[in-house]
Amino acid sequence: MKIKHCQWCDNQFETSISYQIYCSPTCRESATKEKIAQRYAQTRRNKRLKKVRNCKSCDVPLSAYNDDELCGQCLVNPVDVKKMLKEIKGLANGKS
Ligand SMILES: [Zn+2]
Ligand SMILES: [Zn+2]
Repeated sequence: MKIKHCQWCDNQFETSISYQIYCSPTCRESATKEKIAQRYAQTRRNKRLKKVRNCKSCDVPLSAYNDDELCGQCLVNPVDVKKMLKEIKGLANGKS
């Protein structure tokens, strides 16, 4: 038997199983649940980073670090783009 410290509650426990790191099934469950929650949060973060947005004007995919609604190319000529967006909005509203 070996004396170990539980990785979850830090209690001392005796075990003959070399890979046992938790003192009880309750601690093992709690630790597992937290790991799953962490992985879930990580996945959600990654998804947000990978979310593809397209340029409102020319539909080119925007970089995740571009907070604008337009790509660099369209930003060069914002007047034309605004005019176009207005037209698109007019079409969507059924007004022209
Ligand atoms: Zn424990
Ligand atoms: Zn564009």
